[in-house]
Amino acid sequence: MSLQERTQHQSALDRASAVVALCRKCGIGATRTNSVYGEGDPCAQLMVVGEGPGETEDKLGRPFVGRAGELLDKMLLAIGLPREDVYICNTVKCRPTLDTGTRLANRAPTPDEMRNCRPYLDEQIDILRPRVILALGAPAAKSFMGEKFSITKQRGQWFDGPLGVPVIATFHPAYILRQTGGAMTEVKKLVFADLKAVRARLDEPVPAAESTPEQVSLFD
Ligand code: URA
Repeated sequence: MSLQERTQHQSALDRASAVVALCRKCGIGATRTNSVYGEGDPCAQLMVVGEGPGETEDKLGRPFVGRAGELLDKMLLAIGLPREDVYICNTVKCRPTLDTGTRLANRAPTPDEMRNCRPYLDEQIDILRPRVILALGAPAAKSFMGEKFSITKQRGQWFDGPLGVPVIATFHPAYILRQTGGAMTEVKKLVFADLKAVRARLDEPVPAAESTPEQVSLFD
């Protein structure tokens, strides 16, 4: 990617992020502390899509920075990808919460919230045009592959995503963290297999039509 393309992608993401920060389509637009648009390499080949921001993400305005985020960083490193080389975001950009009376607890996004937020996710995909999308967990996977998608049966398989970008799903790092002992080892093995499929796809040569030659201007 040329410096010019990188700058263009980043400016487009910054503009879209500013729009999301003002969004009040859902109730959670009013209860959140910060919107969590996404972060990472604006020209990343891999886009990671999670479910929605949790408490830490809401506080910091950044995706996957809590315990699940620490594990995600390790998962990416296991296939040779430092976090800063990928682009990380969520299906919804505001923290879905449940008022328990004493505190705000995390909850899964509702279908309405996911629908309202979808144009922002589609715009991110359009700006980045990643080579692969990795969906983390059932809600993110279903948002691409449809309600019938089964994370236990269909993780690790390739699907056609938005704009023809290949999508693959694996278990969410928060799910891995909820396992114990041998169950955790088993889930980690499955996740590693899925991650290796991502690595292999990224290692495939870029088809000629996708690889645009870097434009150099004599006058810059
Ligand atoms: N879980 C998610 O799905 N997304 C985050 O950003 C953090 C935790």
